[in-house]
Amino acid sequence: MSEHFPARFVGDTPHGGSVMSFYLPKGAARPPRVAHGEGIYLYDESGVQYLDATSGAVVSNLGHSNPRVVAAMIEQAQRVTFAYPRFFESEQNVRLADRVTGLAGEGFDRAFFVSGGSEANESALKLARQYAVARGEPRRYKVISRDPSYHGSTMGAMAVTGDSFTESIYGPMYKAMPKIPAPITYRLPPGVNSTDYTATCAQALEAKILEEGPQTVLAFIIEPIGGVSSGALVSPASYYRSVREICDRHGVLLIHDEIMSGAGRSGAFLSSQHWEGSRPDIVTLAKGLAAGYTPFGAVLAPNRIVETIGEQGGFVHGHTYFSNPFSCAVAAAVLDEVVEQQLVERAARMGEYLDGQLRDLQQRCRLIGDVRGKGLLMAIELVADPVTKRQLPVAMNAPARLTNYGLAHGIALYNRRANRGQFGDIQLIAPPLIVTEPQIDELVERLERSLADFERDLDREGLLP
Ligand code: PLP
Repeated sequence: MSEHFPARFVGDTPHGGSVMSFYLPKGAARPPRVAHGEGIYLYDESGVQYLDATSGAVVSNLGHSNPRVVAAMIEQAQRVTFAYPRFFESEQNVRLADRVTGLAGEGFDRAFFVSGGSEANESALKLARQYAVARGEPRRYKVISRDPSYHGSTMGAMAVTGDSFTESIYGPMYKAMPKIPAPITYRLPPGVNSTDYTATCAQALEAKILEEGPQTVLAFIIEPIGGVSSGALVSPASYYRSVREICDRHGVLLIHDEIMSGAGRSGAFLSSQHWEGSRPDIVTLAKGLAAGYTPFGAVLAPNRIVETIGEQGGFVHGHTYFSNPFSCAVAAAVLDEVVEQQLVERAARMGEYLDGQLRDLQQRCRLIGDVRGKGLLMAIELVADPVTKRQLPVAMNAPARLTNYGLAHGIALYNRRANRGQFGDIQLIAPPLIVTEPQIDELVERLERSLADFERDLDREGLLP
């Protein structure tokens, strides 16, 4: 959430009870008020257009106001919106489960639908735990994860999130789980190359399992392609294969959190489809799965897990809105569009184009230290000096400042700072999967103008070399 907005957004009406009153310091300027959206653009109440360069919080894979999805929403709303799944199965749920598991491929036979990403991860952790108990391994409960990482904002999700700042506030309220370093290779320890560092990070998993006691370790959870915390971090195939082998060696379940990277954004429906031998046991999805047309998420699991739990009486877990027919119908309409418009393949193609354009921009802009990502999940890392990779003053919150310059140039740039910037200043670039090449050019042009203003002001403040 940005801390300051350009002066033209300062309103004279108070925030009232709106959510902004939770985020903005008292008396701070407020963001534009959204009026409507169409395609990759959002419009505020004064008619100003913003290119949605990050699909909101990497959600709006289909862009805004997709007519087919809107029609499906109306149709389903007229039929039935809610019927509790413990009493009624719905055709919408069955159809969607078949569709999602079909796209996910072998090993993902069952789908449990929820209302968002944090809920999906909570459900996945509990599914893994109940499976261990059902198999007679009740000592397994520890879930190893990476530092930095982001897995959501509920208590269980925070326990596996690698973020020292959120832990400094909420840590006493939950049991923080063991962490190993994420293989971030932009800044490396002296004398270490990126291949060796990545291999060391994979080995750290085995060392941590042995340190904790293999019989107590339940699972390892990772974002296979990083989100806000590691800035679209992608590792070599060898990393994913090593991690899979280590988990297998110790009977540890591998969970891929694909809440940001999944549902087609990376150029494959699941990121693990990019790397042979990297398949996880459980996958979580959200965000792009229903593309912002309804709050939604999913846990995908193999028959062996679901059936083992079924033999013991079924999953001891649920939420009021899980697998409700309205949300399932909306998500099914989204996936129909994704398949028919071939948006997964398009994400791969447009991602390559975006990658090239961002690398060209990096040559022209000294604030960009790194460009990384896969498909249409890309990120730039902001620095004071691309040669030394020196960060801008951490207290400045460079991504939040960039958001403000962006709004003034008609580009909406979501960022959420992880670890208070300890691992770098990241700006995700993740437009809707329907984006065209000319629209990518427009995105990069608006981004360049925003960065140029930022650079000019930093120069004036004496913060650049
Ligand atoms: N996991 C990852 C990788 C995410 O990026 C997010 C949200 O940004 C979450 C989990 C949490 O999802 P939600 O905000 O829908 O609860």
